Amino acid sequence: METIWADMRDGVDEALMETAGSIIRSGHLVAFPTETVYGLGADALDPDAARRIYSAKGRPSDNPLIVHIASPDSLERIVTHIPERAYILSQAFWPGPLTIIMEKSPLVPSSVTGGLDTVAVRMPDHEIALALIRASGGYIAAPSANTSGRPSPTTAQHVYDDLNGKIDMIIDGGSVGIGVESTIIDLTADTPMVLRPGFISLEMLRDVIGDVRMDPGLQSEDPSFRPKAPGMKYRHYAPKADLTIVEGRGEDVRAAIERLSREAVMKGLKCGIIAADEDAGSYHYGIVRSAGSRAREITISQHLFGILREFDSLGVDVIYSESFDTPQIGAAIMNRLIKAAGHHILSV
Ligand code: AMP
Ligand code: MG
Repeated sequence: METIWADMRDGVDEALMETAGSIIRSGHLVAFPTETVYGLGADALDPDAARRIYSAKGRPSDNPLIVHIASPDSLERIVTHIPERAYILSQAFWPGPLTIIMEKSPLVPSSVTGGLDTVAVRMPDHEIALALIRASGGYIAAPSANTSGRPSPTTAQHVYDDLNGKIDMIIDGGSVGIGVESTIIDLTADTPMVLRPGFISLEMLRDVIGDVRMDPGLQSEDPSFRPKAPGMKYRHYAPKADLTIVEGRGEDVRAAIERLSREAVMKGLKCGIIAADEDAGSYHYGIVRSAGSRAREITISQHLFGILREFDSLGVDVIYSESFDTPQIGAAIMNRLIKAAGHHILSV
């Protein structure tokens, strides 16, 4: 299939957007930018369209999709009832990087929810995403627009690398702002629970609705302690390289990574290092990539997935990464990094 490349880096192109909307309304797939990562969109109310997403991504069909809406008013048709806390959260954080899980209405096909009785919904904070949702009838099911198992795409080029020829259109809206997927909160239990950390932190949620806990399955390596979001059980990204996260006091981490990367290079291995801007100058072996500044943590989340992709394409054998426990987005950054490392953490 020929994939149409729609350049909207300078803003929404009305004619191309009309084409994008008609592709989705006819049951086909369009990749589009959001403020978190690029999404792969299909009509959320069409069961066959959702199946096309799973097939293009090679995604397990028990891993549900997020339904994207362009106005909080659209919630009514797709959930059985709107909990009070959902109103409060949507007022506080929508449009924005927060996905809310509620009981689904019969209108939502079970192929979209991976067979669950609940549906994940969010209103993205991105002009192109909102225009596409409106042009498509109001409900777009979209997971991240990567091949299953690769890091989520943060540029249209990443989408092209994974899905060119498999989907109908890619809308280029430039680099995304946040770079890690949305925070997911489940409102179907007595106590609201974060199933996936993102830009909206636990503290920000507690400030607005009080008691919120983190899914205990997220931190655990014990396979009997399964995370509640089906997608979180997968090793999201298995880099070709062996990735080790090094944690400890700053100077100890820098010394350990310098030594380990030197040893790797001496052995003839291609070594990649993921560092903060503040530390990148401390390393003298291997390929050093600066993710961003600890003082501006969003720069780190913006670049992390792109660096993992770059190391893959450079054929790197081993990667050593600093850890990034920054105040707001740190939980999300470390969640993704730990999964990419297959829980391989070295404490120094
Ligand atoms: P992605 O859009 O690729 O970021 O993936 C969506 C994430 O949302 C996956 O981790 C899913 O498992 C999770 N998710 C979607 N719907 C539900 C739901 N109804 N209950 C729990 N997790 C969900
Ligand atoms: Mg994904």
